[in-house]
Amino acid sequence: MRAAKRGAMKAFTYRDGVMHAEDVPLPAIAEAVGTPVYVYSLAKLVAKARDFREGLSALEKPHLAFAVKSNPNLAVLRVLGREGYGADVVSGGELTRALAAGIPPEEIVFSGVGKTHAELLQGLEAGIGQFNIESEEEGYELALLAKRHGYRARCALRVNPDVDARTHAKISTGKSKNKFGVPLDRAGAIFAALAGEEALELRGVAVHIGSQLAELEPLETAFTKLGALIAELRAAGHTITHADLGGGLGVSYRHDENFPTAAEYGEMVARVTAGWDVRLMFEPGRFIAAEAGVLLTRVIRKKRSGNGPPFVVVDAAMNDLARPALYGAWHEFEAVAPTGERATAHIVGPICETGDTFAMDRECDALEAGELAVFRTAGAYGATMASSYNSRGFVAEVLVDGERFAVVADRIAPGAIMDAERVPDWLA
Ligand SMILES: *Cc1c(COP(=O)(O)O)cnc(C)c1O
Repeated sequence: MRAAKRGAMKAFTYRDGVMHAEDVPLPAIAEAVGTPVYVYSLAKLVAKARDFREGLSALEKPHLAFAVKSNPNLAVLRVLGREGYGADVVSGGELTRALAAGIPPEEIVFSGVGKTHAELLQGLEAGIGQFNIESEEEGYELALLAKRHGYRARCALRVNPDVDARTHAKISTGKSKNKFGVPLDRAGAIFAALAGEEALELRGVAVHIGSQLAELEPLETAFTKLGALIAELRAAGHTITHADLGGGLGVSYRHDENFPTAAEYGEMVARVTAGWDVRLMFEPGRFIAAEAGVLLTRVIRKKRSGNGPPFVVVDAAMNDLARPALYGAWHEFEAVAPTGERATAHIVGPICETGDTFAMDRECDALEAGELAVFRTAGAYGATMASSYNSRGFVAEVLVDGERFAVVADRIAPGAIMDAERVPDWLA
């Protein structure tokens, strides 16, 4: 199969008028597990992982680390680990997950501006492959901890290239006003200072300018700046063997959008990094996982509202899928068994907050109470952002492989969450 074709492989398609995840009809999953539930396609995860890898086939041994925060489910991590992906983690909890999923510690990269001492030590003890240091202060703290506990920490310095990723402000990370990385104009001095620390094996540089990038140009600008920095550092006598180019490649959430392909991204990377003579590292999250998942939901009821379109109240809510409330994000909304009839509706969840709105004035399949529907492209930044707001449970997750499926995250009932709470004696 050709790479382009493989990446475009469709995991959620209609057969005999009913949406299937691979070979499993979605009503069968709703019946067995209830709704709302995230449904992931193993084949699609694999297809996207291979598509991304193939896009980079012009590079020598790129290091691929899946951004765990986009979908930290253990089964998902296992699938990507089997595909040869390491992990990009941003907390001790994600590090624990990546290790539990069997990802070798040396394939794990630890990013984030707020790594605590406990998390840094956890990374050292696990023997992770690379810490991406985000400040001079963090570098000294890591050096101190490493020295005290008898480790040498492999690390890279994350720089903030001051590039506008032209994505949603809340997921833009590469402007100087953002909290991430060290300023490019101070990177040389900070690198030199940290390179003097015996307990640090400072071997490279890193950038990550944001998520859901719709164009390659901001990435190219950032990588070009990183290349200049590498040359500057080498001229100052430093050895640079690794460059981490982060994640950020976007996906189309709407049927009519055109996004850069892995092949186009790979071509740009190969061109910009020619002659760098480093091992390139990548941290894709959304690009791998987003299209491999849907959020399956059931219509609770249809509510008329004045003269406007009706509210279609579904049993999924902003606590299950936060992206629309958080970023005004669009998810395609489709009936599992469409009748062919179309309607305009407001799609909302049951939560007592107006922000719990998935779409206003959406032209979509006509739906009645009791019917099933999906929000597409929900495999990344979906379940991972779930909360129990309004004392709803935590949403369940299912992984499909051909004709079989398994619950890969139990629904956590509101009562189980309550069990972790205590009323102190002095309130009795
Ligand atoms: C979030 C994040 C990623 C993944 O971003 P995607 O847009 O999902 O590819 C990669 N690296 C770092 C440091 C991140 O914070």
